[in-house]
Amino acid sequence: MDKVGETTLEIDLSALEHNFRYLKSKLLPETKFLAVVKAFAYGSDMVAIAKKMETLGVDYFAVAYVKEGVLLRDAGIMSPILVLHPQPVNFGELIDRCLEPSLYSQKILKQFLKTAHQKKQKDYPVHLKFNTGLNRLGFWETDAEHISAQLAGRNEIKIKSIFSHLAASEDLTEKEFSQMQIKTFEKISAELNQKLGYSPFRHMLNTSGIINYPKAQFEMVRSGIGLYGYGNDAKEDQNLKPVATLKTIISQIHKIEPGETVGYNRAFASEDHRISATLPIGHADGIGRQYGKGKAHVTIHGKKAPIIGNVCMDMIMVDVTDIDCQEGDEVLVFGENASAEQFATLANTISYEILTAISQRVKRTYKDT
Ligand SMILES: *Cc1c(COP(=O)(O)O)cnc(C)c1O
Repeated sequence: MDKVGETTLEIDLSALEHNFRYLKSKLLPETKFLAVVKAFAYGSDMVAIAKKMETLGVDYFAVAYVKEGVLLRDAGIMSPILVLHPQPVNFGELIDRCLEPSLYSQKILKQFLKTAHQKKQKDYPVHLKFNTGLNRLGFWETDAEHISAQLAGRNEIKIKSIFSHLAASEDLTEKEFSQMQIKTFEKISAELNQKLGYSPFRHMLNTSGIINYPKAQFEMVRSGIGLYGYGNDAKEDQNLKPVATLKTIISQIHKIEPGETVGYNRAFASEDHRISATLPIGHADGIGRQYGKGKAHVTIHGKKAPIIGNVCMDMIMVDVTDIDCQEGDEVLVFGENASAEQFATLANTISYEILTAISQRVKRTYKDT
C-alpha cells in the first residue's frame, strides 16, 4: 500500500476473507453465517465490508438500528438484514426497506404487529430474541405461551428465527453459565416450536461462542469481532488477521528542554532533553483521553513512541527521543503488526471499543489482494 499522507484507516478486504474462511472452518458446512456489521462494521466501513461479504456468500447481515440497515439498502445490499435493536418509531421505515426486526418483548411484538397490520403485511419475517441470562434484551423463558396466543389467528408476521446471546462466551471460567444458557435456549425453542406448529431457525453464538461452544451453532451463527480480526483470546488472534490498520504521519518535531512541558495542562513535564513528534490524530478521531499520559504508544520505524501529555481533539504528541525519524514519516497506531487489542489493553479497554471509536473523518482506503 502507498505511504499515507494523512491519518488513514486501511481496510484489508483479503484479511476479512481470511477471517470469514477461518470462522467457517469451525462450523458445519450447512450452518448459516450472519455477519454483524453494526457501528460502521466495527468502525471500518459498513458498505465496503457488506459488499465483500456478499461476494463471499454470507447468508445474513445484522445491524443495531434501522438507520444502519437503510444505509446498506441504499448501497444496494440485497441480503436479509436483521436489525438487533429497532425502535418502534422506525418500524414503518423498517418494513419499507425490507429490514427484519428483532422483537424482544410483548410490548414490542404488539407494536410491531400494529405497524405490520397498518401496512397490510402478510408473513413479514421477524426474529424473536430470548433472554437466557445476559439480562439485556429479550423475552422471558416463560413468554412462549403468550407469544403463540398473541399470534393465534393472525398472519401479518412470520417468525423466521429465534435467538439468544451468551453473556460470557469468551470467559471459560463461566463455562457452566454458558452451558446453562444453551440448555435454556434449547428448552425455549422446543416449547415454542410445539406451540407455533413450525420451527423457526435458531442462533446463539457470537465470535467467541463459535470458538468455544461450536456444538451450539444451531442453524446459524453471528460473528462480528472475529471477522474484523480479533478473537478475544491471544491464541485465536494468531489465527485471524486485523482488517483495519490505523496510520498517521508526523506533522512536526520539537526539541523539549529540561523543565519544559508538552501539551494542555502541561501534563508532560520533561526532566531532560527530549524530542517530541506531533501527530494529526486526536480524541475526535477516536483516540480517547485514556490513551494519553504515557499509557499507550504508537509505532514509528518499528519502535515504540509513547503518547505523552494529554490527548488533544485533533492531535497527540509522542516521545521520539530514541527514534530516528522526520516530519512526514509514517506512524502506525494499530492494526497489522500492532494489534488493536494490545493497544486497547494499554488503556484498560477492549478491541471493540477502540475499533468502533475511529470516527468518520478519518480517511478510509481499501486493499483486496
Ligand atoms: C454485536 C453482537 C454480536 C457480535 O458479537 P461479536 O463478539 O462481535 O462476534 C452478536 N450478537 C449480538 C446480539 C450482538 O449484539
